[in-house]
Amino acid sequence: EGRLTLGVRVNPLSDDRVLVLIDDRSHSRRVEETRRDFVVNVSHELKTPVGGLTLLAEAMDDARDDPEAVHRFAGRMQSETARLARLVQEIVELSRLQVADTLDEPVLVDVDACVDDAAEHLRTVAEAARIQVIVTHASGGRPAEIWGDRNLVTTAVRNLIENAINYSGPGTRVTVTVQADGDLVAVVVKDQGHGIPAGELDRIFERFYRVDPARSRRTGGTGLGLAIVKHICANHGGEVSVWSEEGQGSTFTIRLPSARPDSSAVTAPVTPR
Ligand code: ADP
Repeated sequence: EGRLTLGVRVNPLSDDRVLVLIDDRSHSRRVEETRRDFVVNVSHELKTPVGGLTLLAEAMDDARDDPEAVHRFAGRMQSETARLARLVQEIVELSRLQVADTLDEPVLVDVDACVDDAAEHLRTVAEAARIQVIVTHASGGRPAEIWGDRNLVTTAVRNLIENAINYSGPGTRVTVTVQADGDLVAVVVKDQGHGIPAGELDRIFERFYRVDPARSRRTGGTGLGLAIVKHICANHGGEVSVWSEEGQGSTFTIRLPSARPDSSAVTAPVTPR
């Protein structure tokens, strides 16, 4: 789809030298298009909560003689504001991940500790949803360590556990397993939830893509969680994959290399979809 320019320049000083110039504009154009799409999507996504807040403020003003209604509208304004704050925070996080030097000083990260922190952070959310989160450290004494950014790794795991909770029913289980095998550290997050239709699997890592937008909205989702996970993994030289079957549940696996990354690979910009 991109343009490939091929230039041939014959060196007038020598008959046997030919310089071939290849100019592939497709990559830079794709990056530019992706940026433009992002701005369009962000403005669209911001309009919903901002519009909601405007309407609520008007409704509150109209109902000023009815303290109960004012109280109700105030509560809805608070939750809409929290949603907006989370959306802005995740947009900023994703934008940061897209710039080149996010991981310019990788440090040794204990992935077991990141997983414990992420699970602890979501303990009350899991309890409220009546979902049991079970963490297993299965590295058999080997250190589950990688080079990178501890906060980012914790964020990636937290996003996966949070989705596993949000897209599962009460009384189910989420298991989180950390495995280390010399070259790689894997974190596997498995749920017994609704699952994802096969045709949607390759789209869920796109920014703002939701299989069921109404459900995502009800659980406070922004549609950015998996895009953030994907970028964090890529910036650490790793990857995230998914297995899912509708009605059976989903398994998301993060694989990160344990070796210290070569700095050029880590700082290379990642092109989002
Ligand atoms: P959201 O904020 O909507 O959860 P994400 O980027 O985290 O956004 O996920 C994108 C979509 O992928 C979700 O809206 C949901 O439809 C689907 N999804 C993600 N994780 C799961 C899961 N564990 N089970 C079922 N569906 C999931």
